[in-house]
Amino acid sequence: MATHRLTTSQRRVQNLVRRHGTPIMAISRSALKAQVDRFRRHLPRVAPYYAIKANPHPEVLKVMVAAGAGFDVASIGEIQTALAAGAPPDRLIFANTIKPASSIAAAVTHGVDLMTFDSEQELDKIAENAPGCRVIVRIKVPNIGSIVELSLKFGIDPADAIPLLIKAHHLGLKPAGVSFHVGSQCTRIENFVEALEMAAIIVRDARLKQLPIEILDIGGGFPIQHFDDDPDWFEHMADPISREIDRLFDPSLQIIAEPGRFLAGPAATLILRVIGRAIRENKHWYYLDDGVYGSLSGQIFDHAKYEFKVLKGGRTQLSTLAGPTCDSLDIIARGEQLPPLEVGDVVYAENCGAYSSASATAFNGIQPAQVIMTA
Ligand SMILES: *Cc1c(COP(=O)(O)O)cnc(C)c1O
Repeated sequence: MATHRLTTSQRRVQNLVRRHGTPIMAISRSALKAQVDRFRRHLPRVAPYYAIKANPHPEVLKVMVAAGAGFDVASIGEIQTALAAGAPPDRLIFANTIKPASSIAAAVTHGVDLMTFDSEQELDKIAENAPGCRVIVRIKVPNIGSIVELSLKFGIDPADAIPLLIKAHHLGLKPAGVSFHVGSQCTRIENFVEALEMAAIIVRDARLKQLPIEILDIGGGFPIQHFDDDPDWFEHMADPISREIDRLFDPSLQIIAEPGRFLAGPAATLILRVIGRAIRENKHWYYLDDGVYGSLSGQIFDHAKYEFKVLKGGRTQLSTLAGPTCDSLDIIARGEQLPPLEVGDVVYAENCGAYSSASATAFNGIQPAQVIMTA
């Protein structure tokens, strides 16, 4: 067989397989830290509050705590995970706009006093269960072109923001700010620009009405590159967003964001192995040791696509990658161009850190890839 010169990333994958076997999800601490640094460098006025749902692994959270990030938490479970990782409660925002009454009360006992809402009913619930709490109204903004659309389920009409902030004040709550989410993996800069302009009008109006607005929360949605030849979207978007922020908001306003995918996504590589092969209808099928019920669940829930790579060279052929469970939904990719693979060969994908192991199951008794933390 022809020997094939491995690239640096291929050699790294090969070493990890020798050390740990497969299936593994290798998460790099330095890559996590580098994304936090990159976020801050390009958006100097914006404090990152890592959205835990993207990847709640305790070691990921510890890196974020050490980097001084805050956290976007959506449940009591996430609040406990963040606190256990060492996050100070005053760096948490309870950013699920619809919360069980009992969770609102429990959040207060954990020291969390900042939460979002997007309905009148939620305000009543917060006033009753977290008296005096700081609240942030979430407005509906354009989610055009974003891979995960959120504006259907969340956000009030911007015209209702001021009346609801006034109501919050009357209920004894502290109307503290405005938030939005442009949709996940948002590659359309206009979504951010329009949302910032909508928020600026509300902030100005609220201040004219003497409401104690102190925070603008620009949500998540910052995009990453899934494929090697994807453009570097963040690079193109961050500077214009930063300029809009400077233009629209005076320095007294505290600005935070809730990046999930952007911080966690690029840091992880999913490393799998071929456990079986077959030829079906003249096509090469390779069965791998994790699939869409496991660490590739983002293909279903997150509409994610990944670039699958191997450690071999050679003439490529049309190939199908399938997962290890007995369900026909568990097909990872059709129409991949891959060299011929044998049982035991490695298949890997980079940029798998977000919405992957977070939603993995052990369906069919098959455990998802083991998480390995690397330098
Ligand atoms: C999921 C979510 C985020 C993170 O979104 P990304 O696209 O991963 O950055 C941020 N805020 C809220 C409220 C969310 O639901």
